[in-house]
Amino acid sequence: MVKENLLEVEARICEACKKSGRERSQIKLIAVSKTKPVSMIEEAYAAGIRDFGENKPQEMKEKHDVLPEDINWHMIGHLQRNKVKYVVGRAAMIHSVESFRLAEAIDQEAEKKGIVMPILVEVNVAEEESKFGITVSQCPDFVETIAKLQHISIQGLMTIAPFVENAEDNRKYFAKLRKLSVDIQAKNIDNVNMCNLSMGMTGDYQVAIEEGATMVRVGTGIFGNRHYNL
Ligand SMILES: *Cc1c(COP(=O)(O)O)cnc(C)c1O
Repeated sequence: MVKENLLEVEARICEACKKSGRERSQIKLIAVSKTKPVSMIEEAYAAGIRDFGENKPQEMKEKHDVLPEDINWHMIGHLQRNKVKYVVGRAAMIHSVESFRLAEAIDQEAEKKGIVMPILVEVNVAEEESKFGITVSQCPDFVETIAKLQHISIQGLMTIAPFVENAEDNRKYFAKLRKLSVDIQAKNIDNVNMCNLSMGMTGDYQVAIEEGATMVRVGTGIFGNRHYNL
């Protein structure tokens, strides 16, 4: 099933690229494997996927430690400072940086481990109360502030768009994130390279690609519905 789903997602990515005059190579598909077993990740791996997204530090750690080393793990969920130690050194990128204290904790852990941690800044473009992320208006100053930390590398922006029936309703938010990233890039801040836009999920990744996404995070569309047994 995973393999068939991946073919479908791949076809839709290509369709969105064609529609917007973009190259397939400009977009990275991140398979969001949260709550899914290692066996399903192995299926996606066998089909060629090397980028996986997780939202719980411990779950990411456990999967990371038993799966092949050439997987790029993406931390896409809200991250607490006391969990940073599980993620730095394992994740290829942290997409969900939205406070100075968190950025600082990541910086300190990276320094301890002798690495520079690639991060994205999470922006709550639609200003939904229920979501994490800084606002569009706060973003330029926030980026400038955390750019002074030497053991993180700021590589773009991420957003989680609202849950909508019609993906077109999110187009304006994707366009807004893109414009924000262009504006920040134009400031030529040291240690800031706005080369990534992580936006688009199962319901709206085609629209996100049309609006400039370089990373799409697709879970349900690849692995099926998630069952939470809490
Ligand atoms: C779960 C999750 C996704 C994937 O959502 P789907 O709708 O299943 O594709 C993408 N991004 C984040 C931040 C998530 O938490």
